[in-house]
Amino acid sequence: MGQSTHRFPKCYDNGTFWILPNDPFFTLRKQSPPDPASLFNPRVFLWLPHLHYKIRCPECSTKLRIKGWLDSPIARKVADLEDTFYIMSYRYKCMKCKGRNNNPGKTYTSHDECIIKNLPKCLSEEFPAILSHRSGISRRLLNLMRSCFHSGMGPGPFARMLREHHDLRHDRLELQYLLTRREKNQEARNQGDITRYLAARNSDDVVNAVFPNKGRLDSVPTTKYLTKLYNKFVESHIEKHYHHTSTLPATIVNVDHSHKVSSITL
Ligand SMILES: [Zn+2]
Repeated sequence: MGQSTHRFPKCYDNGTFWILPNDPFFTLRKQSPPDPASLFNPRVFLWLPHLHYKIRCPECSTKLRIKGWLDSPIARKVADLEDTFYIMSYRYKCMKCKGRNNNPGKTYTSHDECIIKNLPKCLSEEFPAILSHRSGISRRLLNLMRSCFHSGMGPGPFARMLREHHDLRHDRLELQYLLTRREKNQEARNQGDITRYLAARNSDDVVNAVFPNKGRLDSVPTTKYLTKLYNKFVESHIEKHYHHTSTLPATIVNVDHSHKVSSITL
């Protein structure tokens, strides 16, 4: 990870939270023989809000002590529309509140919901994911899921569609890799460079190792997992839904004239 001369990471100086890998064309171009593993270098999102604002304890509002990078796990894996990315976060500690087992010092991480919620909206809107206990999905994926669910597509077909998009990306990378390898192979043969030619030919073994199962390298969320996160998202907005519904004008009111006994009173 690049570090600039002062306290900001290099990517922050460049105006982005993201550390991005090179595009496949440039990655393959500079390698001889090309290494397929390098095509799967992930995007990384660095979430260090304390560099911009003071982070206060959500419970007692004391300024939190900065503890360093989160190391267990080092990064959180997040599923996106056609690949995955990682989020790296920081740990904070409140010396006033009690943590686990009533020990002094409650620990937070920069991606905790309660920390993000207390940040200025302009910054918190940059956080790109909805997290579960161990992983998460991107907000882009959640937004697409909402649109699809509203249009009648269920979680099952949505998960299959997602799998297809991940497969497609994987196939595209494999195609780029194979075409580059063939090109380099041809180049070495034309130049009579036997060492390079053999190195390119031997990279067949690497292909089998890195592309063992098409499209299965990245973990794609299951139907159950997507449903769980969608429900979590809806439940987190339930108050707003109720408020909105209660403020709607009663332009159409359905009345039940059957005079059935309410099930609640039984
Ligand atoms: Zn506290």
